[in-house]
Amino acid sequence: MPDPLRSFIEVAPDSHFPIQNLPFGVFKPASGAARVGVAIGDQVLDLSVLEQNGQFASSEFKGQRVFSDQSLNRFMSLGQPAWRQTRAVLQHLLAANTSNLRDNTHLRAQAFHAQRDVVMQLPARIGDYTDFYSSYHHSHNVGTMLRGPENALMPNWKWLPVGYHGRASSIVVTGTDVRRPRGQTKPPDAAAPVFGPSRSFDYELEMAFFIGPGNPLGEPVPIERAPEQIFGMVLMNDWSARDVQAWEYQPLGPFLAKNFCTSISPWVVTMDALEPFRLALPPQEPEPLPYLRAQNDSTYNIQLEARLQTATMPEPHVITRTNFRHLYWSIAQQLAHHTVGGCNLQPGDLLASGTISGPTEDSRGCMLELTWRGANPLTLPNGESRKWLEDGDTLAITGWCEGDGYRVGFGEVSGRVLPA
Ligand code: MN
Repeated sequence: MPDPLRSFIEVAPDSHFPIQNLPFGVFKPASGAARVGVAIGDQVLDLSVLEQNGQFASSEFKGQRVFSDQSLNRFMSLGQPAWRQTRAVLQHLLAANTSNLRDNTHLRAQAFHAQRDVVMQLPARIGDYTDFYSSYHHSHNVGTMLRGPENALMPNWKWLPVGYHGRASSIVVTGTDVRRPRGQTKPPDAAAPVFGPSRSFDYELEMAFFIGPGNPLGEPVPIERAPEQIFGMVLMNDWSARDVQAWEYQPLGPFLAKNFCTSISPWVVTMDALEPFRLALPPQEPEPLPYLRAQNDSTYNIQLEARLQTATMPEPHVITRTNFRHLYWSIAQQLAHHTVGGCNLQPGDLLASGTISGPTEDSRGCMLELTWRGANPLTLPNGESRKWLEDGDTLAITGWCEGDGYRVGFGEVSGRVLPA
């Protein structure tokens, strides 16, 4: 492989989508139904056209045609051999020195769309969605606010990846406005709860991964085999109504504070694209139980930012700078734990990290932590201040891996807050 690999499609040096990435998504062209594509530079390559052209007919595809579907679910269900074969075919076809597609004017005209001319859809039909709580720094900060630093972490926290079952039906793709929810809240000095718009509306900077083939009911996925089940990753914003959450969360955890909307980025970056950015998982103390232990368990070096733009600001302002590597629990541990009692995962299920905060103040992944529950408002460059998100604010999360002369990026997940 020449170093770095180059495509005949021009890709800007700071693009998130060079030939090293090739993330999968579902797009709707100007005319015609939604179908599966891959991002390359500022283009989308239509895989349904290449499939009709006979490019994906090898045994890994089990005789199935999957790229005219309006979701990635069937492709996800085919498993790692089909994902890898697709990546190999595409890296070959898109390479600068491969002529098949490069010099076929007719096929090129059919197969490429400018990203600005297509509408991105949710990448999968998400049957189930789980949100973990895997950042030590986030959990420690929130626990300190609620219980003080001595009791910040619950006794189970370093023994298992804590999580809850979220709501799949309200997951939306980037660009979708989010309406401030109404709900029950109880002001600290009030005798009874009140009903109305949330007054402490927040974002949570997270990442999430999609499940591939899945496992039968009653058959846990051993941690060593977890990687075969992980199709790829996206950025996520777990919008949160903190005042609703504070009143409702005991004893069963988040419910209406989270279930009104969750936003994800549209391009799913595969684990093969992330491979050069894999790192050893930091040491865990106490040592986890055997079902959560794997040889060479890993994390990834993914730089993450949240940017806030208010209605009167000309430019977005970065309010969080963090990294995926700050997570305590690995995605393999999350997956092994999720299934250890026999729970079956299915193609297109989404498992999220929880808010990703780092050790420093500027690496806190939500307003709750950044403003310490509103006690220290953020001051923005134009003089405005924020304890929480306000109507008209746009919150965008972006993330990328820095390679040698290229970036493997995730694009962004963005949403604007509408009044209740
Ligand atoms: Mn969350």
